[in-house]
Amino acid sequence: MTAVAESVDTASIGRLLQQRHDEAAEQVRRLQDQTESMRGSHDAGAGDAADVGTLALEAAEQAMVTMALQEQMTRLQAALKRLDDGTLGVCQRCSTQIPVTRLQVMPWATHCVPCQSIVDRYR
Ligand SMILES: [Zn+2]
Repeated sequence: MTAVAESVDTASIGRLLQQRHDEAAEQVRRLQDQTESMRGSHDAGAGDAADVGTLALEAAEQAMVTMALQEQMTRLQAALKRLDDGTLGVCQRCSTQIPVTRLQVMPWATHCVPCQSIVDRYR
């Protein structure tokens, strides 16, 4: 069987995207559970100022991690949609095919490497 060298293996990329998405969803769920239980223990005990400060800091960190995960999930969902549309792997800036090697590492990539560096710079 001859494989087309530059073709994107959409099935395996789809599986990878779905897997990453499920992992992120699971992490978000766990973080939310943790936040809930933290809030619960905070309400139950009086706690001193240091505890409250630590809790607030942890809550802020968790909120940041949760936000990053949710952003990642949005990217993954968008990539899964592009996979359905058949536009996955097409650079959104210059419309060239993103190299398969890049997609294998970052299947949610929306830009080829040169465009990505431009997009990053002007973000
Ligand atoms: Zn490009």
